[in-house]
Amino acid sequence: MTNTYQNYIDGKWVPSHTGDVFTSTNPANIDEVVGYFQKSDGEDARAAIESAARAFPQWSKTPAPVRGEFLFALIHLLEQRKEELAETITREVGKTLREARGEVNKTITSMKQLTGEATRLTGQTVPSFDERVVGYTVRDPIGVFAIIAPWNFPLGIGLWKIVPAIIAGNTVVFKPASNTSLISVKLMELLIESGVPAGVVNMVTGPGAVIGDELANNPIIKGISFTGSSEVGLSLGKAVGSRGGKIQAEMGGKNPAIILGDADIDLAIDCIVTSGFFDNGQRCTGTSRVLVVPEVADQVKSKLIERAKSMKVGDGFDPESHNGPVVDEHQLNLYLHYVQKGIEEGATLACGGQRLTDGTLGNGYFVAPTVFTGVTQEMTIAREEIFGPVIAVIDVESFEHAMEVANQVEFGLSSTIFTNDLRKAFDFVKGIQSGVTHVNMPSTHFESQYPFGGKKISGLGPREQGESALDFYVETKTVYIRP
Ligand code: NAD
Repeated sequence: MTNTYQNYIDGKWVPSHTGDVFTSTNPANIDEVVGYFQKSDGEDARAAIESAARAFPQWSKTPAPVRGEFLFALIHLLEQRKEELAETITREVGKTLREARGEVNKTITSMKQLTGEATRLTGQTVPSFDERVVGYTVRDPIGVFAIIAPWNFPLGIGLWKIVPAIIAGNTVVFKPASNTSLISVKLMELLIESGVPAGVVNMVTGPGAVIGDELANNPIIKGISFTGSSEVGLSLGKAVGSRGGKIQAEMGGKNPAIILGDADIDLAIDCIVTSGFFDNGQRCTGTSRVLVVPEVADQVKSKLIERAKSMKVGDGFDPESHNGPVVDEHQLNLYLHYVQKGIEEGATLACGGQRLTDGTLGNGYFVAPTVFTGVTQEMTIAREEIFGPVIAVIDVESFEHAMEVANQVEFGLSSTIFTNDLRKAFDFVKGIQSGVTHVNMPSTHFESQYPFGGKKISGLGPREQGESALDFYVETKTVYIRP
């Protein structure tokens, strides 16, 4: 029997007033329904917003170290349920169980990073020119925040936004991506079991545009932390900004990997396969452009194509699979659309480029890892985010030319260079327009103790993670006291 799951508002699981539900299916076998979820609308979102607003006065007054205590229970529960959570991610998103376990482990590390943040919610004391004045700052909670998350890291991204928001003393309305509703229900269950009081975190499932419209325009919402496409993030930024609200948006990427003549080519190929193909390229920091200089271009292309062809695509639960299916029909169609664009615009399809439907695969959205060579900067596949396992190899003349091409896109999330020339590595770090960058590492490498976010249309607002994780969720108050 497939379950029907509800919204979580004011400490209770409740149905949407619409009476409608939608299905979430297993992308490796689209005939398998994972669950039915509430197709909520603006009215449900308003109920969640009002619940969060009612909970705010009490929660914001609770001493910060007390607010932060639930995190220890949360980490314990995440550890205990690691396997169940990973299996749910694989079943709902399609990523391999190895990748799903990686997501749960990263989430635990990120939560551990946040422990103690509540006790470190410090201000500053600053000397005054007046000997009788004591001056200092405090960091105040702000009110109700909306958290809008994507499907590609459904557990990690949801928690690493919600947790800093609430330990800072705010209350939250959480809107997960529809195709990861089950993992989001489990995320809510973890928070509830960890002792987060009623009303502090509320969840509504349903269509992004409808619920998003209410979250963007309701004046009770003081800020939105969003992760998803640049198109949606920028429009949310406009709507929230126009009424004085705050926006933190982590958005798309078109991340370059530059390979210079002195690079360790096997290392570079390993890193590019990991960051560009694994997880079907459905990572915002995934490598989607390889910029290679003439000395090593042939070697790079042949090794990359060989590795792409050798990848095994299958059910994420099969330990032999390097990749599972892409997440849904929309992503499948995007992949096919960009493959077609690449061919039409004159790039060479070196391998892949099709949906995989052979008899050993289930009725799912399986696609082949794809390499295009002969790509030029004007082509669509060199400029637009595909969010699929498609790598565009672009021939460049030199390091300087590589830098020019690398920066010639609207995005600026992640990047990497492969070289043993220290000077070139530092020149790259200095000149590359991306919020996160790497040398001799995959563009997806990420650790939660460092700030994370993008430049250009890849990011708006303060960084997530690291020391800055709470910055978006607090306002500084400056205090002058003359006793
Ligand atoms: P998306 O923008 O379609 O959806 C993201 C979330 O926004 C979902 O919950 C969706 O329901 C909601 N949404 C959709 N339309 C909305 C609207 N009009 N108003 C408010 N909310 C709305 O993105 P996606 O397809 O879920 O995720 C893929 C994208 O996310 C890619 O562009 C990827 O690069 C980006 N991403 C970025 C990061 C990062 O940290 N920079 C991380 C993961 C994913």
